[in-house]
Amino acid sequence: MLEDVIQYLEKHTNQALETVKQLVRIPSVAAKGEGIEETATLLKSMFEELGMKTQLHPTSGSPVVTASLDVGAKRTLLFYDHYDVQPAEPFDLWDSPPFEPEIRNGRLYGRGTADNKGDTTSRIWTIRAFQETDTPLPVNIKFVVEGEEEIGSIHLSEFVEPNKHFLKADGGIWEFGGAAIDGIQEAWLGLKGDFYVQLEVERLNRDVHSSTATHLPSAPFRLIWALNSLKDEKERILIPGWYDDITPLTKADWQHLDKVDMLEEDTKKYYGVDSYVLNLTGDKLKEVYYNGPTCCISGLTSGWQGKGSKTVLPAKASAKVDFRIVEDMDPEDLLKKLRAHLDNQGFSDVKITWHEAYPAAKTSPDHPFIQLVNTANKKIFGHDLRVHITSPGSGPLYLFKDHVPMVSIGVSDYDSRGHAPNESIKIDNFRNGMKRIAIIIDEMSRW
Ligand SMILES: [Zn+2]
Repeated sequence: MLEDVIQYLEKHTNQALETVKQLVRIPSVAAKGEGIEETATLLKSMFEELGMKTQLHPTSGSPVVTASLDVGAKRTLLFYDHYDVQPAEPFDLWDSPPFEPEIRNGRLYGRGTADNKGDTTSRIWTIRAFQETDTPLPVNIKFVVEGEEEIGSIHLSEFVEPNKHFLKADGGIWEFGGAAIDGIQEAWLGLKGDFYVQLEVERLNRDVHSSTATHLPSAPFRLIWALNSLKDEKERILIPGWYDDITPLTKADWQHLDKVDMLEEDTKKYYGVDSYVLNLTGDKLKEVYYNGPTCCISGLTSGWQGKGSKTVLPAKASAKVDFRIVEDMDPEDLLKKLRAHLDNQGFSDVKITWHEAYPAAKTSPDHPFIQLVNTANKKIFGHDLRVHITSPGSGPLYLFKDHVPMVSIGVSDYDSRGHAPNESIKIDNFRNGMKRIAIIIDEMSRW
């Protein structure tokens, strides 16, 4: 019975947290290629323990783990998760070592607890709860767990192309989500795309004495001038045609957005700022948050950054530039536009050395599955979901959107610090997140 499932999850939260810890202890950092096979194999064995049909699908990068349980039900629920994590550096900013999970003040700390090993585990344990309480699973279950989400899901399409049938489901739960700063549970119906490039300048064949800066060129200045041509102080991206394909938010979008409270004051306080850029507020803030592209320098490297001084003229400079993109912006087209812009500005010497890119996608807020998830949320958390038509973050939703309506909900909260030091989840959210999945499964059986 469903009541037994809920009771089981209440009683076994600590054991479920042990599973999160087990996963967090393996530093599966995709950017470094560490712990990938080990984590994929561990997950596969976890799915096998549930009697699921599981498979490791090799790609040119990390393998994709799939698992399915066909109980002959009318409806199928699919989960998309990832077993890779962001690098944990700088380690000295962590209060406890990132890969030695620790519970403090009702939270579990460690790299990957929030993004997204906690979510993956909550879903696995919910299935376990049905089985352990002899409650027949009323829906078929599928998992797709990839190992390169944090590096732009660069090889996921190699799995998706020949396995499109696997993605077919009546509803899907995406990898992330949780409680906002005011405690309200949030659901995200879409994801922006990403266009990430490294820009490099090499002007000399070696670093030289900086006295030569009278007559030798400076790579860092070249790079800075090139970067300066990308965006102005009004936050406008200056690459010609960059905004051409963006569809403005529709009336229907605004009907949902009007209900969203951006919690501006609380959020500013949380980030330690007095105002947003350009003093953005109200509808203008919503517009850029949900439908605005970004141009963000994620890293900038050149010359000497150690202690004290070193008078050097660096030979090279590089920057990582992260452009979030919205629906209908095409990464291939953007790459051409960026190259043409740099050339036209006289920066043919700035190399675009590599790029990861994928488009944006979203599910309609009017899809009945979204209502169903909201009903389940209400039963556990006692309130309606705060529905966001899309997330400002990115993910490979575009690969799934033609096969399954997806909604992203999860066990994190506003203070989970994904991608940053002291990443954590609140244990209460983890427990209730498991219960919410149980209710979604139950609701789907009557849908
Ligand atoms: Zn992430």
